[in-house]
Amino acid sequence: MIILDTTTNPIGRVKCVVENCRHWHKGNHCVASSITVQGPQATSVQGTDCSTFVNKTH
Ligand code: SF4
Repeated sequence: MIILDTTTNPIGRVKCVVENCRHWHKGNHCVASSITVQGPQATSVQGTDCSTFVNKTH
């Protein structure tokens, strides 16, 4: 069982378009209590990703 640390308040200044994430809310808001972005060696946008993502269909 996955326990989600999700609030009802969107994170200010974070705009997310990943509708398939359980933390995603209408209006491109993220309601996770915090997020972690991975990609320490990133050299482009594609080299980064949100490790707080949880697939909402699972
Ligand atoms: S946890 Fe990451 S992928 Fe999910 S809504 Fe928030 S910012 Fe987007």
